[in-house]
Amino acid sequence: LIQLYAPLNFLGVLYREIRQALTDIERMFGLLGTEREIRDRADAIDMPAGPHTLRFEAVGFAYDARRPVLHEVSLEVPAGHTLAVVGHSGGGKSTLARLLFRFYDVTVGAITINGMDLRQIRQASLRQAIGIVPQDTVLFNDTILYNIQYGRPDARREEVIAAARAAQLHDFISALPDGYDTKVGERGLKLSGGEKQRVAIARTLLKNPSILIFDEATSALDSRTEQAIQTQLEAAAQGRTALIIAHRLSTVMNADQIVVLEGGRVIERGSHTELLALDGAYAGMWRLQLQERAEG
Ligand code: ATP
Repeated sequence: LIQLYAPLNFLGVLYREIRQALTDIERMFGLLGTEREIRDRADAIDMPAGPHTLRFEAVGFAYDARRPVLHEVSLEVPAGHTLAVVGHSGGGKSTLARLLFRFYDVTVGAITINGMDLRQIRQASLRQAIGIVPQDTVLFNDTILYNIQYGRPDARREEVIAAARAAQLHDFISALPDGYDTKVGERGLKLSGGEKQRVAIARTLLKNPSILIFDEATSALDSRTEQAIQTQLEAAAQGRTALIIAHRLSTVMNADQIVVLEGGRVIERGSHTELLALDGAYAGMWRLQLQERAEG
């Protein structure tokens, strides 16, 4: 993967940052090898200053014109709030995040940030403002320090350590024989899914974006790890505008607002309590998860 991007190296820090975001997002969305056709408009401008309010305004989208994937999706994430998107597989959850990152342009409607249409914003400045914690983080064959620092290549060692502490990785790293200089990745130390997600959280904390996209791992975590990730997620979402593709009870419950996406449509929205009272699709999913948890 690194080799793939090697020619970009000389272009410096800016490209390194964009490349990191792209690497994670491509992995997150399975987009490796796909062509990106989105170009900045000649008159594109930088992102408005944060904090950022996100709005999807009657968004329709189709990867293939013959098969629409999103239909009239309207939602708002006020600055500093957390929106969790839930729903069955294939409902369009990841597509929302892809559109927000502008891997594709909407087919109908608009996505706005502080009222500004995404299509007016320079992509580099948009991606600079968004931090992504993907399900499966790419680790490079380098030190753990380098892997965290990737969130902000000019960060000092102390800043990397502070981010690792906040992501509850510091004690784990300190206990390794080579500490922060331990090599990780395919040819180094293998990290567990939970540890990798924590590296991604540390990277994001270091990057300090005003918008956070968190793609929660679907794979089962033991309850202690789940609790730890939940705590770190809340810390990472603090003061940011967060869009969470959620799979777990604990994450969903704590969101300011929950949207249920089915077949590309918002079929329910509200707080956890409101949706339970509604006794519809969300309440059904909730009962199912409780049951699974009790059995598991
Ligand atoms: P999951 O929970 O399984 O990740 P999801 O709710 O995130 O699912 P999306 O990944 O957004 O769902 O996919 C929504 C629909 O769009 C699916 O029917 C999927 O097959 C389709 N789709 C996703 N990516 C592409 C693509 N690159 N080209 C064509 N169709 C796609």
